[in-house]
Amino acid sequence: MSRVLVGVKRVIDYAVKVRVKPDKTGVVTEGVKHSMNPFDEIAVEEAVKMKEKKLVSEIIAVSVGPTQSQETIRTALAMGVDRGIHVEVSGKEYELLQPLHVSKILAKLAQEEKVDLVLVGKQAIDDDSNQTAQMTAALLDWPQGTFCSKIEKSEAGLTITREVDGGLENIKTKVPAVLSADLRLNTPRYATLPNIMKAKKKPIKKTTAKDLGVDTSPRIQIVSVEDPPTREAGAIVPDVDTLISKLKELGHIK
Ligand code: AMP
Repeated sequence: MSRVLVGVKRVIDYAVKVRVKPDKTGVVTEGVKHSMNPFDEIAVEEAVKMKEKKLVSEIIAVSVGPTQSQETIRTALAMGVDRGIHVEVSGKEYELLQPLHVSKILAKLAQEEKVDLVLVGKQAIDDDSNQTAQMTAALLDWPQGTFCSKIEKSEAGLTITREVDGGLENIKTKVPAVLSADLRLNTPRYATLPNIMKAKKKPIKKTTAKDLGVDTSPRIQIVSVEDPPTREAGAIVPDVDTLISKLKELGHIK
């Protein structure tokens, strides 16, 4: 294998309490801490490990999003990625961007850059779509390995362990392929200061969806974004008997 393409999405940091905009058109993003999607850090780490094992020679990180997405690419570069591609999509267009659009962009870049592997996170924690890996594989007509918790080089290609309901599934795949990283694949490294400095010199190419021939016109309309219902206050009961009679009273048990 020679080249890996990794998708890195800039999302609201996982530790931030997300607030819905008063007009219910979306969530508040201004002045809110953003970071690389946690599953993408895992995807980057895996690609860097592959490079350290000399299984790949070059890693390219792609981020589709507004100008600030370049910061996410810089983080990937500081973790060991060689170069970045920023596909600028901003404003309303970005708010309505869907996994299908991102998949078309990744598929186009995978072909242009002649990569052998596309590695993405299993899902972006902002929209929780879990669609990009699958659709990118379909568009490229490449095999897919989703929810990977182990990726190993084998003679014919790769051996993958996938986390599925009730256990682990081991599959073999040829390359080129599209893989998505699950939580237990690895523990991502922190970027060290020298590597952050070095990353500043690594190249980031800027392009647009239009230049890649991908139409990003919205296919959905956001009707409204609502806060989850607030939990009702609980009550403390003195003993199990009172608990049972309360539950009966409320109709939760017979
Ligand atoms: P999703 O299908 O939206 O849950 O995203 C799955 C994965 O696709 C993410 O973990 C990223 O690796 C990749 N991805 C999704 N959106 C973007 C984006 N805007 N830029 C770069 N990669 C993305």
